[in-house]
Amino acid sequence: MATLAAPTQRPETLKYPDVRNYINGAFVHADVPMLEVFDPSRGQAISRVPLSSPREVDEAVRAARAAFPKWSQMPIKERVQVFYRYKTLLEQHIDELSALVTEENGKIASEARAEVLKSAELTEFACSLPQIVTGEVLEVSRGVECRIERFPVGVVASIAPFNFPNMVPNWTIPNAIALGNCLILKPSELVPISAGRIAELLKEAGLPDGVFQVVHGGKDAVEAICDHSGIAAVSFVGSTKVAKVVYRRATGNLKRCLALGGAKNHLIVMPDADPEMAGSNIVASMSGCAGQRCMAAAVMVAVSKTDHIIERMVGVASRMVPGRDIGPVISAESRARILGYIAEAEAAGAKVLVDGRGATVAGREGGYFLGPTIIDHVTPDMRIAQEEVFGPVLVIVRTPDVDTALAVENASPYGNAASVFTESGGVARYVMEHASAGMVGVNVGVPVPREPFSFGGWNESKFGVGDITGRGSIELWTQAKKMTTKWNREAGVNWMS
Ligand code: NAD
Repeated sequence: MATLAAPTQRPETLKYPDVRNYINGAFVHADVPMLEVFDPSRGQAISRVPLSSPREVDEAVRAARAAFPKWSQMPIKERVQVFYRYKTLLEQHIDELSALVTEENGKIASEARAEVLKSAELTEFACSLPQIVTGEVLEVSRGVECRIERFPVGVVASIAPFNFPNMVPNWTIPNAIALGNCLILKPSELVPISAGRIAELLKEAGLPDGVFQVVHGGKDAVEAICDHSGIAAVSFVGSTKVAKVVYRRATGNLKRCLALGGAKNHLIVMPDADPEMAGSNIVASMSGCAGQRCMAAAVMVAVSKTDHIIERMVGVASRMVPGRDIGPVISAESRARILGYIAEAEAAGAKVLVDGRGATVAGREGGYFLGPTIIDHVTPDMRIAQEEVFGPVLVIVRTPDVDTALAVENASPYGNAASVFTESGGVARYVMEHASAGMVGVNVGVPVPREPFSFGGWNESKFGVGDITGRGSIELWTQAKKMTTKWNREAGVNWMS
C-alpha cells in the first residue's frame, strides 16, 4: 500500500534513495509530500517519490523555455545525433534498465528486456526523422513556389502510466525532442525510478540541459501541466477516465492534446484457426506483463466449435508458474479489484477454467501475484465482459457466427486492438474491415504496429488526432508552416500579387 509520509520520515530500510525531479540537467529536491514506491513482487517499499505541485511544474517549464530557442533552431540532422548515441546507451545498459523495470513494475526479466529493446527501436525511428520530415515544395504557378516546412510546437509534456516505465516515456521522448521540442515527462508515481536513468542517459548522449525534464507526482502535477500557459502540447497515456479529464482540461486551455486511454481487446477465434498457434498466442496476449497491457487480450469471442482451441489454451495457461512465467500485478488494490471481477462473474454463472487466484511465490509471499485466469461462458452483459480488468484474466464469450462476434466486439466503448484467428483470408479481411478498433491483427495476439507504423486506438481508447508513435506522431509534435515565394522575373506577369 502506498502511503503519504512527511519528507523527513524516510524509513531507513528503503533500497533506493528518494526519487528527485530532474530540471535543467540536474536532480533537484522538492519540498513537497513524498509517496512510497513499492516493489510489487515483494510488496515492500523501495523508495519515495515527490508529489510535485504547480511550483515544480513551473520551474520545469521555465528551464524548458530557456533551452527551446537554441535546441529548436539546431538542424534536425544534428539533433538526432543525440538519439543515435542514446540508442546505443539503452542497448549497453539493457541489463540495468530492465532490472529497474522489474523492480518497480514487477514484470518478469524477459518482459522488462523486451520493453527496453522496444525503447531502442523507438529511438531508431527518431533517428530516421530527418529523412521523413523533408517537407514539400512545388512551383504552383510560373515563378511561384509553395513549400511546407515543419516546426516544433515548443515546450511539450508527456504523462505516462505505470505499466511500461521505460517504453511509454520513450514513445514520446525521442520523437518529440528530435523534432525540436523541449519535453517535460511526468512518469507514473507508481514507477518513477526508471525516468531518472533515462534522464542520465540522455545527458550522457549529449542532450543539452533543459531540453528534457522530469517532474514527478500525481493528479496535482498533471493538472498543473494541463493549466500551464507555457506548455503548448500534452500527450497522455493511461486510463480512459483520466484521459478524458486530461484531454478536456488541456484542450480547454487551448493546448493540442493526444490522450490514449484504456482498452478491452477482443480476439475473435474461428473454428479453422491453427489450434497450436491460436492457443499459445492468446494465452501470451492475456498473461504477458500480468495482463497489464493496453493491447492485452481481454475477451476471446469463440465462434461456433472452438473447444479444441480452448483446451490448448487451458493447457498452456495451467502450466505457467507465477514468479517465473508471470509477474505480479502492480498493487494490492489492483489485485483485490481483479479478484472482485472474477468472483462476480463466477457468482453470475460463468465457469472458471483456469484459476489464478491464490497464486503464491516462495520467498515473495508479500507480492501481488495472480496466475492466468480463463473464464468460460461469460455473457456480454456481465461487468467482466465490458470493463477493463487490467490483470491476467481472459473471458470467453461464445457466439454462433462471425457477425455476432463482431457485434460483441463493436459494442465495447473502447477500440484499441482487435484480432481474428483463422486460416480463411476472406474472414480475416472481413474482421479487419469491420472491427471498430485502431489496431487489428490476423493470427496475432498483440497487434502492436512496429515502426514506422504508428500506435493508437479508436473510440474511447484515444482522444485527439494523430498517433503517439511512428509517422503519426509528427502531426502531434510539429506545426506546418506554408511558405509562398516569388523570385523569378517572369513572375511579374503572374496573377499572384
Ligand atoms: P492512470 O490513468 O491511473 O494514470 C496515468 C497517469 O495519470 C499517471 O501519470 C497518473 O499520475 C495520472 N493520474 C492518475 N489519476 C489522475 C487524475 N485523477 N487526474 C490527473 N492525473 C491523474 O493509468 P495507470 O493505472 O497508470 O495505467 C493503466 C491504464 O493505462 C490502463 O487503463 C491501460 O489500458 C492504459 N494504457 C493505455 C495505453 C494506450 O496506448 N492506449 C498504453 C498503456 C496503458
